[in-house]
Amino acid sequence: MVAEVLQMLRERVRPGVTTLELDQLAEKQCVKWKARPAFKGYGGFPFTICASPNDRVVHGFANQDRLQDGDIISIDFGLIFDGFYGDSAITVPVGQIDSKTEQLLRVTKESLDCGIAAALPDGHLSDISNAVQTRAERDGFSVVREFVGHGIGRQLHEDPQVPNYGLPGRGSRLKEGMTMAIEPMVNVGLPGVKVLEDGWTAVTVDGQFSAHFEHTIAITDNGSEILTSLGN
Ligand code: MG
Ligand code: MG
Repeated sequence: MVAEVLQMLRERVRPGVTTLELDQLAEKQCVKWKARPAFKGYGGFPFTICASPNDRVVHGFANQDRLQDGDIISIDFGLIFDGFYGDSAITVPVGQIDSKTEQLLRVTKESLDCGIAAALPDGHLSDISNAVQTRAERDGFSVVREFVGHGIGRQLHEDPQVPNYGLPGRGSRLKEGMTMAIEPMVNVGLPGVKVLEDGWTAVTVDGQFSAHFEHTIAITDNGSEILTSLGN
């Protein structure tokens, strides 16, 4: 369901669209399914999606500003259905983006893929962290430290935290049946972020672009399964 909503929103992204329109589409779909948006009301967060364009890193508010050619927009979405949460994020180009920004999106998505590939039964939690960081930094990008992935299931945010940096072979062991959200936030410039006066929106300290990709996965007996993919 999370994957379907994100797919629907991705198809709507183009110059002229507002993030409030995307937010309302996501909420409408939740109502239709009798699912509950995971973020709306969470700690007082006011929207169904987190909409974080350009130098916004995560937790941005949807608004009536029109997306413009050359922007990127990170859309983070989760819902709860039948007692269980799903959580996923994509970053989508708006119209034509420059080659550095294209590279940022590709590398951030690949760092998520690397993290997922490192999520193995009997492996260590920090193997995921190290795989994400290594892929992002190989192309000269930096990973955000202040926000991390997380266990997920009957709660949106469960233990353990899943950082996007660190040495491999540390922390708890991964076991079949564990479910977690892996979510690299990768910056073109400095890794630092700050939170705006709204108390939520995180932006890069240097004003350069940031991308965010996330999947909810389950550790299986021989690897992992992505739970927030349409499987195509
Ligand atoms: Mg998320
Ligand atoms: Mg998450």
